[in-house]
Amino acid sequence: MSSTLFNLSGKAALVTGGSKGLGKAMARGFAEAGADVFISSRNAEELKAAAAEIGAGLHVKVEWMVADMADRAAVKALAVEAEQRLGKIDILVNNAGINNPQAIDEITDEVWDRNVEVDLTAVMSLTRAVVPGMKARKWGRIIHISSVLGVGGRLKRNVYCACKAALIGLARASALDLGPYGITVNCLCPGPFLTDMPGKLLNDEEKQYFADRTAVKRWAAPRELAGPALMLASEAGSYITGQGIVVDGGAAVNVL
Ligand code: NAP
Repeated sequence: MSSTLFNLSGKAALVTGGSKGLGKAMARGFAEAGADVFISSRNAEELKAAAAEIGAGLHVKVEWMVADMADRAAVKALAVEAEQRLGKIDILVNNAGINNPQAIDEITDEVWDRNVEVDLTAVMSLTRAVVPGMKARKWGRIIHISSVLGVGGRLKRNVYCACKAALIGLARASALDLGPYGITVNCLCPGPFLTDMPGKLLNDEEKQYFADRTAVKRWAAPRELAGPALMLASEAGSYITGQGIVVDGGAAVNVL
């Protein structure tokens, strides 16, 4: 039974920001479950290498395209290209994201606008573009990658927290729009996962602090988000919609 529940054979998945970190790990998880996969980012060389890793040893199609999520025309073109090359998009993971910490009284319009564009507007825009195909096929799985900072706060993470919380609101509303068409919409809210993003932002002391906040006393490997993503992307998650699912090693329940 479990093999059918999590099987993605015949499905096609688009994962933005699939060149590294969490996106690459989720894309590999989908490919291992039998899905054809399409990944995007801004770096052709990294995409090419990631596509080879994602498809290694598997009999699935792995395609890629450079698309800057800050560019609305590129977001639209990404949906068209992925649908053409894979034939359809059954699973969309809005994973590409950026984090530029600024305290509330230090926020610049430029940083605010860019973050909102990549972390929020592009998610709406790409989702809007793939939904007609999913509706026509009466099946779809949409996963926005929010954050544990979408359900809580942290100093200087104003725009990041605002966008990640907004993704949870977006998922709730669109789950109601799309439920009648067999489409689920959810957020995954990761805690500390060791990727380039926190690697560049945090010093060693902060990294230790983040590990100590979790119940399991460690950072997660990117691969540890692949299982939750697979659950939401497959029949296993067919009755889960409109949710923000926290995957954080217990960090968010550690309130005192
Ligand atoms: P990462 O290793 O920095 O990967 C980010 C991915 O997004 C890369 O493929 C990057 O490629 C792509 N990307 C960034 N800006 C882009 C743009 N303008 N257009 C297209 N692609 C873009 O980060 P990660 O940790 O895997 O993060 C993935 C998602 O998880 C993000 O939404 C992040 O907010 C969320 N998250 C991460 C953690 C964590 O602890 N790691 C925790 C909570 C939430 P290029 O830069 O080459 O374009």
